[in-house]
Amino acid sequence: MNELPKVSYGAWSKEKSVRHICASGGVGFEIGRYLIGKGYKAIGVKYDVKRAKAEHYVASSVDEFILSMGSKYIQSYTLSGFKGINRKDKFLVSGTPCQIDSLRRYINKMKCSENFVLLDFFCHGVPSKFVWDKYIKEQQDKLGNIDFVSWRNKQNGWHDSWAMTISPSDSGKVVDWYDSYNLLIKEKKGCVNSRWTQGDTFYNMFLGNNCLGKACYKYCKFKYDHSSADIRIGDMWGETYAKEDKGVTACVAFTQQGMDVLNNVNCELVEYPFERVAEGQIKTRIKYPMGWSFVIFFAKLQSVSMKQLVFFSRIIGKFNKIFK
Ligand SMILES: Cc1cc2nc3c(=O)[nH]c(=O)nc-3n(C[C@H](O)[C@H](O)[C@H](O)COP(=O)(O)OP(=O)(O)OC[C@H]3O[C@@H](n4cnc5c(N)ncnc54)[C@H](O)[C@@H]3O)c2cc1C
Repeated sequence: MNELPKVSYGAWSKEKSVRHICASGGVGFEIGRYLIGKGYKAIGVKYDVKRAKAEHYVASSVDEFILSMGSKYIQSYTLSGFKGINRKDKFLVSGTPCQIDSLRRYINKMKCSENFVLLDFFCHGVPSKFVWDKYIKEQQDKLGNIDFVSWRNKQNGWHDSWAMTISPSDSGKVVDWYDSYNLLIKEKKGCVNSRWTQGDTFYNMFLGNNCLGKACYKYCKFKYDHSSADIRIGDMWGETYAKEDKGVTACVAFTQQGMDVLNNVNCELVEYPFERVAEGQIKTRIKYPMGWSFVIFFAKLQSVSMKQLVFFSRIIGKFNKIFK
């Protein structure tokens, strides 16, 4: 695990469209773009819409890295990307703090850490795949086959950007993430645009902490300033940018290598003390909610709908408050 953060910034991409598409300021994408330009391969996360699965993959060009833009709030399968790692190439690898810690220990052991830049994020926790599968199945039942999913969009601004956009594949158009993002959200017929602030059931479960992975509740050691990465990113949700609605990435460099990368990316960087950049981030692991195993059990049942699951989780939440 790293020592204290070396330098912290509020930051955003200088390219408007990148900032608009990404979850916060687009710094994750800009780090990849910069390092690919330096000859690195970039391992990021894309969503496989056919298998309803997030997975790591290796991008050798900026075009290939575009699929990694934006957060996919489900557990990513690392094997598909990590098996592309070798000793001769240089790599940027992004992932959850626990995925990055495992990789850090591996590359230290293999004595090849100088070939790697590791990127993680302030992590809330990763929601259960059972809940995701249930949610996406309900959308499929409504829409038919799906060809596009995104977890965040800034149509109502960054502060109200927790919004699932899901589109059916019967439009006859091939969806290009980069170019058709705005068109897709604004104009595509039959597209689901479901916001957390209007009761989206997946976000209710995830952000209500009712369906995180067991390991997130029991073992997470990587909150706040605990990281094995060179750089940590996140949403800079605190007071500093409360009135900014285009999105700002909270960036922390833990190593000299991380500092060097951040100082060269295509981003505006404004330096702040770590506490200010990390304002509002979770500091310790989230308490294991009583009844969690029942929630997962019900999530597995075909007959229970997402709405019923949310209702059931709220009742369990009330019991938790009374008996804690
Ligand atoms: C499960 C999860 C929980 C998070 N919790 C918080 C939180 O509590 N607080 C906070 O401030 N930010 C959190 N984030 C990070 C936040 O959503 C943004 O990724 C971050 O603000 C960076 O935004 P950006 O615009 O710079 O990123 P982008 O430029 O869009 O880059 C996003 C990067 O995240 C990687 N990524 C996307 N999905 C996954 C995934 N499922 N697993 C691993 N890597 C992935 C991509 O490969 C890419 O490199 C979380 C992200 C995830 C996936």
